Amino acid sequence: MEGGQRKQMAQARPGIGAIVLLGAPGAGKGTQAKALEARYDVPQISTGDMFRAHLTLCTKLGQQAKEYMVRGSLVPDEIVHNMVADRFLAPDCEKGMILDGYPRTVVQAEDLTKTLNNMGWPSPLVVYLALDYNLLLQRLTGRRTCPQCGRIYNIYLQPPAAEGICDLDSSPLVMRKDDREEVIRERLRAFTEQTRPVAKYYRQVGRFNKLDGSRSPDVITQDLFSLLDAERKNNGAAA
Ligand code: AMP
Repeated sequence: MEGGQRKQMAQARPGIGAIVLLGAPGAGKGTQAKALEARYDVPQISTGDMFRAHLTLCTKLGQQAKEYMVRGSLVPDEIVHNMVADRFLAPDCEKGMILDGYPRTVVQAEDLTKTLNNMGWPSPLVVYLALDYNLLLQRLTGRRTCPQCGRIYNIYLQPPAAEGICDLDSSPLVMRKDDREEVIRERLRAFTEQTRPVAKYYRQVGRFNKLDGSRSPDVITQDLFSLLDAERKNNGAAA
């Protein structure tokens, strides 16, 4: 596709386009992605959730990813690429998508830029949720998830009304296997070494926003709504 044609197509596309939520494990990307998904009617694409689904279904891809996930390392870029490439082509991505946990390396970020270009999308709007190390540890060790509806709780910061039970569907909450302390340390190390450079990459290419992730989830959600609504207004869509 020619550059001019691509630009025209990008302008013609309705919706919010690609939003990248960047941040360490435990920064609140999943919680915010769900709030954005509900408001803007675009899917949350969480590569972590996709890998977990493959693991549950015992697919070949799940088997490949497992050895990295159990020790808290990043799955190799090529495996990630093969998994996300098809997902972007699904009809529910027509108006945009909320990328949660992807890209996580500079190679993935470059790959995403190419994919979006080929699809006629502009570069993503990036929001980096910044948080200090100790708070991240507390967020991760306290995290509990509903296996039924995916709602995320924190036993210290955002507990359910009844201990261990989802407020929405009464399912027993579970702790992710990789939210144990020894694995958490490795995940945070992978973030510092491989994902922080992604923030630097986007800071240079533009449309980069940094938010204080230590505030309450609702306050951060309001910030995100304001940011996205302003973007849509600038792009000529009704907020
Ligand atoms: P998450 O649920 O996003 O914390 O991801 C859980 C695990 O899945 C990570 O610790 C990685 O092993 C793997 N993973 C998820 N997304 C990616 C990605 N974009 N690149 C590499 N590995 C990933």
